[in-house]
Amino acid sequence: MDAEVFRAWIVSSARTIEASRDHLTQLDAAIGDADHGINLARGFAAVLGAQEFGKASSPGAVLTVTGSTLISKVGGASGPLYGVAFRRAGKALGDDADPGLHALSAALDAALAGVQQLGAAREGDKTMVDALAPATRAFSKAVAEGASRDGALAALAEAAEAGAAATISMQALKGRASYLGPRSVGHEDPGAASTALILAALRDAARAAS
Ligand code: ADP
Ligand code: MG
Repeated sequence: MDAEVFRAWIVSSARTIEASRDHLTQLDAAIGDADHGINLARGFAAVLGAQEFGKASSPGAVLTVTGSTLISKVGGASGPLYGVAFRRAGKALGDDADPGLHALSAALDAALAGVQQLGAAREGDKTMVDALAPATRAFSKAVAEGASRDGALAALAEAAEAGAAATISMQALKGRASYLGPRSVGHEDPGAASTALILAALRDAARAAS
């Protein structure tokens, strides 16, 4: 997948986040401060508007400018967390013009490691990690088993979606939602929901390119 596919992924993420802005904000209203959709929509719009975004000539450069822009434009916990995820993934891809499935798997692992290093959340804490961790696992398993690109990305998106849905029954132990204690149970985590949307956009961008 070349820089154009990665750029298409980010453009598609921006669209789906914008279309789901109110839904994500409502999820955050239930267990946070009702800004997640607004934060992310503003951040992704800023990415699309960044001069370097259009010019980035490698997949790694596309992800790095995405992460840097999210860090500088998104307030709240999710900006730095998504920022570090995209930046670490970009760094892992380096200047490879057309990374394959193993490189992409390593980049996803690096993104997850970055999020956990910065936010110290473990699986089960009801955060974006509960979508990202099972998704990266499902992807590397599919790749190890010889799945096609589309098959592995479908497994990635499906696991993220299932992981986000599983946060409904969890009690939040990290982030703003943890202030609610047991009252955080019964609501989907907004960051896990947005992670599932972003990874579904990756699946769709790759499919559209093939
Ligand atoms: P804020 O909580 O500052 O208002 P957002 O509403 O934009 O920021 O994002 C909230 C999301 O950030 C949560 O739903 C959760 O998925 C994620 N999050 C918060 N804290 C952490 C953390 N320590 N590790 C991983 N993800 C986190
Ligand atoms: Mg919030």
